[in-house]
Amino acid sequence: MTDQPYSLTIKELVRHLSTHVNLGLTDREAQKRLAIYKANIIPEKGVKNKWQIFLSQFVDPIIYILLGATILAMAYRDWAEATAIVVVILITVSIGFVMEQQALRSLDSLRKISQTQVLLIRSGTRVKIKATMVVPGDILLLYPGDLIVADARLIEQDSLLVKESSLTGESISLEKHTKVLPNKLPITEQHNMVFKGTMVSGGTGKAVVTATGIKTQLGKIQNLGLQAKQEQTPLEKKLNQLSKRLIALTFILTILIILTGYIKGQDLFLMLQTGIALAVATIPEGLPIVATIALARGMVRLSKKQVIIKNLEAVEALGATNIICTDKTGTLTEDRLQVHSIQWNKEKVLEVVHKNEVEFYGLSQEMAFNEIMVCSILCNDAPLQDTNGPADTVDVALLSMTRNCGYEPMAIRKGFVEVDQIPFSTERKMMATLNKGSHKYVTHAKGAFETIIDRCTTELKGTQKIVLEDRDIWVKLVDQMASKGLRTLAFAYSEWSTRPNAAQMLEQLTFLGIVGFIDPARADVKETIAIYKRAGIRVVMITGDHLETAKKIAGDIGILDKSDTMNGAMSASDLGDLMNIDSKKASQILHTNVFARVVPEQKLNLVKFFQKHGNIVGMIGDGINDVPALRKAEIGIAMGLRGTEAAREAADMILKNDKFTAIETAIHQGRVIYRNIRQFVVYLLSSNFAEVLSIGLAALWLLPSPLLPLQILFLNLITDIFPALALGLGKGDKGIMSLLPRKSFEPLMTPNHWYATLLYGLAISTGVLGITAYGYFILEVTPQTTNNMAFYTLILAQLLNIFNIPKAGESFLRNEVTKNYWVWLALVICLFLAYAAIAYKPVANALSIVPLSWLQYKIIIVFAFSTLVLAQLFKRALFVIKKVDL
Ligand code: ATP
Repeated sequence: MTDQPYSLTIKELVRHLSTHVNLGLTDREAQKRLAIYKANIIPEKGVKNKWQIFLSQFVDPIIYILLGATILAMAYRDWAEATAIVVVILITVSIGFVMEQQALRSLDSLRKISQTQVLLIRSGTRVKIKATMVVPGDILLLYPGDLIVADARLIEQDSLLVKESSLTGESISLEKHTKVLPNKLPITEQHNMVFKGTMVSGGTGKAVVTATGIKTQLGKIQNLGLQAKQEQTPLEKKLNQLSKRLIALTFILTILIILTGYIKGQDLFLMLQTGIALAVATIPEGLPIVATIALARGMVRLSKKQVIIKNLEAVEALGATNIICTDKTGTLTEDRLQVHSIQWNKEKVLEVVHKNEVEFYGLSQEMAFNEIMVCSILCNDAPLQDTNGPADTVDVALLSMTRNCGYEPMAIRKGFVEVDQIPFSTERKMMATLNKGSHKYVTHAKGAFETIIDRCTTELKGTQKIVLEDRDIWVKLVDQMASKGLRTLAFAYSEWSTRPNAAQMLEQLTFLGIVGFIDPARADVKETIAIYKRAGIRVVMITGDHLETAKKIAGDIGILDKSDTMNGAMSASDLGDLMNIDSKKASQILHTNVFARVVPEQKLNLVKFFQKHGNIVGMIGDGINDVPALRKAEIGIAMGLRGTEAAREAADMILKNDKFTAIETAIHQGRVIYRNIRQFVVYLLSSNFAEVLSIGLAALWLLPSPLLPLQILFLNLITDIFPALALGLGKGDKGIMSLLPRKSFEPLMTPNHWYATLLYGLAISTGVLGITAYGYFILEVTPQTTNNMAFYTLILAQLLNIFNIPKAGESFLRNEVTKNYWVWLALVICLFLAYAAIAYKPVANALSIVPLSWLQYKIIIVFAFSTLVLAQLFKRALFVIKKVDL
């Protein structure tokens, strides 16, 4: 492959790459090349293979401690103990390995679903394929909003503009051409090339792929190590922080327990072993990975509901989202436009809906009406024949209007050839064309009323051009149309005897009139907005449309309450500098739910403004100009069918079926996952706390130890992992959408979570210490039998602890935990493993198990269940008396 494709002629390059400008590669050839050049991806740095994942499990404080324990056991020549600990190490490492693999696999499959698609020519036909399958020699077709997926040399272009900020940092769009360039140019000057990772901001083009994957300019840069390391999500950071604090606390407690036991006359070796085992058991090493699994599973579940979440962080942010910014057209409305009425000559208005052709007869004699029709045909990008191709819905509706009014677009376009165009853009809010007739040039312009009328000096009265003096009448007429919820568009034109230049084209236009479109609200939107309201989430409409149209639609679907219609909406021109405003204005904006006539830059500023005031923002966008706002928002949301590839790339979440309502499913899922994570943290910590407390107090009170070192390790493997995982996979309950969103600054563990942890831990250790004292002092059984009774009580009590997790306000029997079948499965597995361990002699010996009588088993059951009763009594009493819902 040449490394300077920009310096070759197109012919040379195409020959060099053995491809064809119009036919592209054949599928077979493409397959062959894929095998040679490999998939078009830049491998992420730091991705571990299976062995690395396995070995990395050993790099863990828990394993170090366990290795220390093995050495200690060997030093005391306790070979059985040493072997048992080695087995524990192997099991721990294997569990970590399997869980990490599982998490990575889920993430990987999601990455595949969200892959970028690209349009290219293969075997002479246009096909859409996954970007990863692109190979050198492929012919790419480029359209506005497309993401460029490989380095390619341009073969054809029409006003092509490319944004290369991701590669060069340059934020303005660059014009591209197809001419040959000299050798040895830096990429910033290779204007006949397009590069992977950049995007088309305007115009169209066709290019032949010269490099893919790691060989692209982006690949080379990333290979230099410039790519940011994959960051931990905030949740992972919080969990790691929590783990670290708990490790420190555990060490202090362990040392205290060892010292106390030793001073009180317990055996030093036993105390050292107990200390080590306790440290292992109480370090919540599984937290981050269980959290990752819970998040990843949530993503998989959402993908089945047509919502693609691209990163774990987004799932977490979803649960805290309290503002959703959305555009109007296509998201809240159907975007199936139909012309409703036409207004010209101030007093003439025609409702076109439901009228037939006959009624329009004679109207073409009215000059303004006729010019609006001609303008609708000429200042229009919709193709006349291929009605299935991509086209602006405004333009399509206008063409159909002209046909209904008896016009023949084809004939008119033939008579007036387009010689120049100012394309529509959201910033400009208008479009204009210059057309050449038989002996004149005509400018046709259509767009937002304010932008069009500002350029007009005259208007039509009959066939006369008169000075446009009374703008206010037109303003009133537009407001009237808009307040019915119609989308409005203004029309103007001007005639020239000689060709005007681009600047002149839009000067001194003659105003023609306005057209109003119906764009009905989507059926299910109103209901969804009501759900958001109940869930404490504000929906803010940020639209490019007219204020009155926006207000009417917003009122219809419930974004604006009846009482809000005066204050809840504002035009973007009143926003001012959002980063420098007084508190009164800030509060007004924070209470505004509709922003009209907004340009993309203001969208970004609004997102920043909301974030600055402590909000977690979800932002829906579809254009290339929305990319900065999509990136800035905590949750950037793009549509799978509508909108540009660039928006989908920048977004965190893609709604595959374009349904606004799908966001609700995602938020619900986000909330459930966060709650699940909190639940298993409370479950794990309270169980661990019970172990520390039981052993510590037993040592202090000179009771037989309720837990021997290997028993602790056994518990750690059994009762911790399965129930915690099961809680992580819970589906939550419907009521979660009637709660307010989580506050962004809220810690993972709120005071209530800590109280719950302490309460459940205390309840369990009361039962364990109770049975220890009962067995030792009242039944007067041997220390070993006492220990066994306490050990079994602890196993059972920890398993029962899972039923403490639902809120006190919920029913004890029917709640999200009892409805979670994973929980029941986990309990069955744990009980089975416990039974198997006790029944299997070698393990039973290692765990110092002795036979117990039926009476002793019954006592165990009574003590174990009493821990649940105790915790529930306290929890429900707190709820009734103090209204604290743990
Ligand atoms: P939203 O931002 O909610 O999608 P919108 O589609 O009205 O609403 P924009 O696409 O930014 O927002 O359009 C802004 C304005 O530009 C429209 O209200 C309309 O007056 C005008 N406009 C829209 N499409 C065209 C077009 N194809 N040609 C000329 N003017 C247009």
